[in-house]
Amino acid sequence: MELGIIATSPNFPGWKNIPLKSLIEKSLHHPVFLDNDANSAAYGEKWMGAGKRISSMICLTMGTGIGGGIILDNKVWHGAHGMGGELGHITVNPYGPRCNCGNYGCLESYSSATGMVRSAVESISAGKMTKLKKLSSGKTGNITAKMIYEAATQGDRLSISILREAGKYLGIAIAGFINILNPEMIVLTGEVTGAWDFFFPSAKEEIEHRTYTTLIKQTKIVRGKLKGTAGTIGAAGLAWNKLK
Ligand SMILES: [Zn+2]
Repeated sequence: MELGIIATSPNFPGWKNIPLKSLIEKSLHHPVFLDNDANSAAYGEKWMGAGKRISSMICLTMGTGIGGGIILDNKVWHGAHGMGGELGHITVNPYGPRCNCGNYGCLESYSSATGMVRSAVESISAGKMTKLKKLSSGKTGNITAKMIYEAATQGDRLSISILREAGKYLGIAIAGFINILNPEMIVLTGEVTGAWDFFFPSAKEEIEHRTYTTLIKQTKIVRGKLKGTAGTIGAAGLAWNKLK
């Protein structure tokens, strides 16, 4: 990332060692800095959003996939080789479903929009009754995470249990992050956080089980403040810092 090269991306198959920085610089004739969307969103929330006065925090962007950004001492932590913070791809269940990255049982496989849709489709194939059948006009290919949320608000048991399960695995992951880094704050952002009331109680339960009591009491877990703009604001902030 620091070198301006996309080494690999699970959601962009075939993108291997792409020199994106120099390719864009050649077209724009301006300096270009490269970082991923989740690191940018984390920096956006730290710079202008929920983590304004916070020096250490973890941000998870929960959408189609799950991105992660780690802020330590006010800076994005990129790791030794520029690939740190891939928090959506930590294993929360070694026997879980295969993820786009090739691993099994990643956080992203359960708590992203795609993960929840997969879970719904599997349950319907296994014969479970759900309002999702009607909402999707009987076609599992039509099911979206938003539909699962809507069905949950109508009391659909399967949809409620999918959101709770997403929260459970999210909580397992967050407990690990807290135990490793003891950050001041965890910020959750992205479209999936719209279903907060359904998934957060089970996440909180897991976090409380799996972290030291003093740690969890001192860690703020909040929703992002910048909504869809965290990534662009953060990208601007990161570029601004480089140019200073
Ligand atoms: Zn993965």
